Amino acid sequence: MKKATIYARVSTERQEEQKTIESQICELREACKKDGVVIVKEYIDDGFSGGILARPGLDQLRDDVSRGLFNTVYILSPDRLARKYLFQALVIEELKKKEIEVIFLNKPVTDSPEDQLLLGIEGLIAEYERAKILERTRRGRLHRAKNGEIMGGSAPYGYDYLAKTKQRAAYYKVNEKEAEVVRIIFSLYLRFRSTSKIVKVLANKKIRTRNNSKYWSKGMIHRILTNECYLGTTYYNKHDRSGGKRRKRERNEWIPIKIPKIVNDEIFELVQKVLKSHRGGKRRRIYILSGLMRCENCGSKYIGLSSNKGRHFYYRCGNLVRRFPLPKNCDSRPVKAERIESAVINAIKNALLRPQILINHVLGLARNILEKGKNAKKDKERLTSKMNSLEYKKTRLLELYLEKIIQKSTYLEKRKEIEEKEKELEKRKEDVSHVAPYIDKPLIIQNVKYFSKLAKEMIETLEPQKLQEFLAYLIDEITFNSNKGEVKISGHIPITKKMDDSNYDTLSHFSPDLMNETRNNKLKFELEVKV
Ligand SMILES: [Zn+2]
Repeated sequence: MKKATIYARVSTERQEEQKTIESQICELREACKKDGVVIVKEYIDDGFSGGILARPGLDQLRDDVSRGLFNTVYILSPDRLARKYLFQALVIEELKKKEIEVIFLNKPVTDSPEDQLLLGIEGLIAEYERAKILERTRRGRLHRAKNGEIMGGSAPYGYDYLAKTKQRAAYYKVNEKEAEVVRIIFSLYLRFRSTSKIVKVLANKKIRTRNNSKYWSKGMIHRILTNECYLGTTYYNKHDRSGGKRRKRERNEWIPIKIPKIVNDEIFELVQKVLKSHRGGKRRRIYILSGLMRCENCGSKYIGLSSNKGRHFYYRCGNLVRRFPLPKNCDSRPVKAERIESAVINAIKNALLRPQILINHVLGLARNILEKGKNAKKDKERLTSKMNSLEYKKTRLLELYLEKIIQKSTYLEKRKEIEEKEKELEKRKEDVSHVAPYIDKPLIIQNVKYFSKLAKEMIETLEPQKLQEFLAYLIDEITFNSNKGEVKISGHIPITKKMDDSNYDTLSHFSPDLMNETRNNKLKFELEVKV
């Protein structure tokens, strides 16, 4: 009797179209059974690339070959053995020398020279062609770039791209109108030293962007101010896009291509210096309420700003920014940063200091959740009993069919009906389980108590950056009325199923999962203070 072995492999790259290791093994076992051969050993490489031959399973198989354990190897297809033809051929050749037959389920091979040729040649040609084309285009482009030819269609602002013709290579030609704007932008920056000021001046002068938009962004201005191409050199091969990611190459790999100059060296260098000094010189203050506070009057977000060269900090209604270049239409006043920040923090701390009041408050707002939770419990019980009765019906139906009381067609039809009902109930059961029926009064009380204790500690000890993160998590929104000096804070307390001290040990406990869970549960609180 033939003694066989099977070899199966899957790589870790799951996007590659391949069967799971189990289904591969299954298919191979089936085939052996069909052929009436006994499997003496199975070799499996789970999670190994076919790009290399060094794999534990395959190594073992090749070692065992000389021990005469088997005379046939079953493999799903040649690419399971190796991705490259050369490697495939190598192993097949090796096995053949020991008079071992290789059977590919998806590609039957005989010893005929034609088959042998076919097995390899397809892959070989494809590989060769691919490599050649890749190399040809990549090297071709590099070569053309080295000869000063422009690659790619879109020119930077200030230039037009002229495609290549029979007479000449592609190149960038100066677009006089745009080039003038580039020069204006550079000189405006040296005058005002502010990109937002440039945005305003350009809007006033009615200078449009290349896409004919009335408004320039600060980012667009910044990109122009830092683009070296205006000095007369653009670079090819600056980025490596292989492997799906864009990565900047080492500077010595860039290939310079001469183009017309638009800005002179002195001005360009001066601008870079000013840009650098602005970046380094700014005192960074963390506005812990930024992004959280809204103007009650107009709905804009309040934004953190400094004045008098960073000596004063305040929050201002962002209406002007939102409506720019239209004039602002909100008369909300700015508020000193320290004043509103400490008001918000004190309000939260005070609430946390008296958990009993917070508990009553939260419980009042949580009435809905508790109600839903109770109903969910009942719904779940009801659905479970319904499903049980369907199960019984199904068994009964089968009995009727087996006792030949009903026909097969009737049986199948009725069974399908029942199964459809089951599916629907299953879905409803899942919906209900999202309602989190585990939430009850004691759990809420416990949660608020633990949370109060920990949150108070955190607010007192956290660095501004961490404090901002924590507040962003705790607070849903702050609305501010600058005329009345009223601050309304709404937020929610996280709630977790498993309650013990360790749950609230650290801030790291607030994992994204828990946050989402608690966002859905919404144990809300609302606070009001005056500033
Ligand atoms: Zn406003």
